[in-house]
Amino acid sequence: MHVRVTQIDGALPNLALMRLAAHHRTRGDQVHFTRRVRRELFEPPYDVVYGSAIFKFSADRLARFMNEFPGAIVGGTGTDSTVTVERLIGDAAGLDYSLYPDFEASIGFTQRGCRLSCKFCVVPTKEGKPRQAATIAQVWRGGSTPKHLHLLDNDFFGQPDWQGRIAEIRDGGFKVCFSQGINVRAMTSEVAAAVAGVEYRCNEFRRRRLYTAWDNLKDEEVFFHGVDILEAAGVPAKHLMAYMLVGFDKRETWERIHHRFNRMVERGILPYPMPFDQARRDLKRFQRWAVTGLYRSIPFSEYDANLKAKRTAKRRRGDGDLFGDVSP
Ligand code: SF4
Repeated sequence: MHVRVTQIDGALPNLALMRLAAHHRTRGDQVHFTRRVRRELFEPPYDVVYGSAIFKFSADRLARFMNEFPGAIVGGTGTDSTVTVERLIGDAAGLDYSLYPDFEASIGFTQRGCRLSCKFCVVPTKEGKPRQAATIAQVWRGGSTPKHLHLLDNDFFGQPDWQGRIAEIRDGGFKVCFSQGINVRAMTSEVAAAVAGVEYRCNEFRRRRLYTAWDNLKDEEVFFHGVDILEAAGVPAKHLMAYMLVGFDKRETWERIHHRFNRMVERGILPYPMPFDQARRDLKRFQRWAVTGLYRSIPFSEYDANLKAKRTAKRRRGDGDLFGDVSP
C-alpha cells in the first residue's frame, strides 16, 4: 500500500503521525511523510492519506488539504474530527522517528489530562483528569540517543506518581523540556524542589527554561505566589517563559494586557503573547513586538510591525533614507 502521512501544522514531531507511520511500515507499506497540503508533481496515487492539524488557525491549510485529498483521514485538536490513532490502529505501534531525522531528543507523554479546566482549552474535554501514560524508560529511545526528553505532558505534576517520574529523570541523568508548561498556579514547595532538582531545558535543549502560562489577569496573585515558591527553591524567574493568552477575556483592555506583560518583564520573566484569534492583527503585532525582544527598546505605541517590509520596499524603489522616515 502507498500511504501519505501529512503534518498540516506544528513544528514539533507529531506523535500520532509517527505511530501511524510505524504501523504501516511494519506491514510493509510505502510511507510518504510530508508537510505539504497540496499534491506534488510526481506523487503516486495513495491507498490511504492521513493528515494531522493541532491548531485551529490552520483551518485554511486543512481546507486546502481536504480539497486535494477528499478521502483523507484527519485528526488532531485543530480539526473537528473525533478519530483517534488508537481507534485506527490500536495501542501497539511504536514511533517512527525516521520522519524527523534532525530531531535527536525522545518525545512523548508520561501523563494525559489536566487538573484544571480553562475555558479555552480542549484538554479537559478530550483527556479528562490526569492519569499516567508512560514511564521515562518508555519515552526514551534508548541506545546511544541523547538523554534529552521532550515531554508533551499538559499537567506533569498532576499525575498520581509524578515523584516516580522525577526520580527517573534525575537519576537517569536526563535533560528535560516540559514544552507544554508546568502549572505555576498549582505550585507547592515539594513540586518546586523537584523542578529545581532536574535539568530542565528549552525546546532546543540549549538553555535553562521552564515554560508556564499566565492567561488571565485574575490569576495575578496566585501566579506570582507560584513564582515566589519556585525562586525560593532555586528556580530563578528569568528561567521562566510565560505564555499569555490575549484576546479571549471579554473584559480585556490594552491596559490590562500591558499590565500583565509589564509585571512579568519587571520580574525577569519572558512573556510570550498568544493571540486567541489569529485574525486580530493588533494582537499579532503585539506578539511580534514581544517575541522579537523589541519591547526592550521601542514602546509598543511606536512599534510598526511592517517597518522591515516598508524599508525593503523603499530601498527597492530607491527613494528615501533607509533609516529615516518610513511613513507612507
Ligand atoms: S492548565 Fe493548560 S492543559 Fe490544563 S486546562 Fe488549562 S490550558 Fe488546558
